[in-house]
Amino acid sequence: MLLPEITQDKLVSEIELFIEYGVVEEQRIPAKELLQKYLDNPIALAALLEFYKVLPEAREEAVNRIGRIDSLQGVTLLALYTANHTYTVVVTEGEAHILGEFAKDETPREILNYFAHSSHEEFIKSCGPINELKEFGVKEKAAACPACGVLVGEFHLLGCPVEICPWCDGQLCKCNCRFEKLDVESLDDDEQVEEFQDLLDSKGRVPYDSEQTPAYPGTSDGLDKKK
Ligand SMILES: [Zn+2]
Ligand SMILES: [Zn+2]
Repeated sequence: MLLPEITQDKLVSEIELFIEYGVVEEQRIPAKELLQKYLDNPIALAALLEFYKVLPEAREEAVNRIGRIDSLQGVTLLALYTANHTYTVVVTEGEAHILGEFAKDETPREILNYFAHSSHEEFIKSCGPINELKEFGVKEKAAACPACGVLVGEFHLLGCPVEICPWCDGQLCKCNCRFEKLDVESLDDDEQVEEFQDLLDSKGRVPYDSEQTPAYPGTSDGLDKKK
């Protein structure tokens, strides 16, 4: 959590206030229902606060869904859906900015550069059908390792290609650390595997987090090579 709980409570009541003032009456309940989903999510709260403060085009609509477009090193791009519109929002360090209507408004150059997109058109295309974006935050919390199925914070099943080596930060199933640590050329029996597992446990294994994928940055290149 980025914000201490008290600040977060304040944020939530501030958003509720903006909803009361800015959203047409019949949409206030759905607006607050969505808010309830994100009470523990400072990124979503920042985006909602900014949305209801700004009320793009003064449309007085409720946000009924938040989609995740992309995120990179603490900068998150979200899509806020209302009944009839979709807005792109960038959130960084608890600050949100509405970038405009998705696809319709030109994406700022600095955002395109940051997320390595060559043009507004290419960025929009890369998002795929906008209504099919994954719901932000809510499900990611329980996300499981795509390879071995453990949950965030749990240790991978040994041999999982997503597990990161605590010695070299490489891909544990591919790096050479197991041979180096056991001082052998190859791992031939269960005893060696157990011995390695003990070494691994005392070193401290790297549990799964949702940033890790089979193509975790830095694990796909160079780790297959012998050092
Ligand atoms: Zn795994
Ligand atoms: Zn290693």
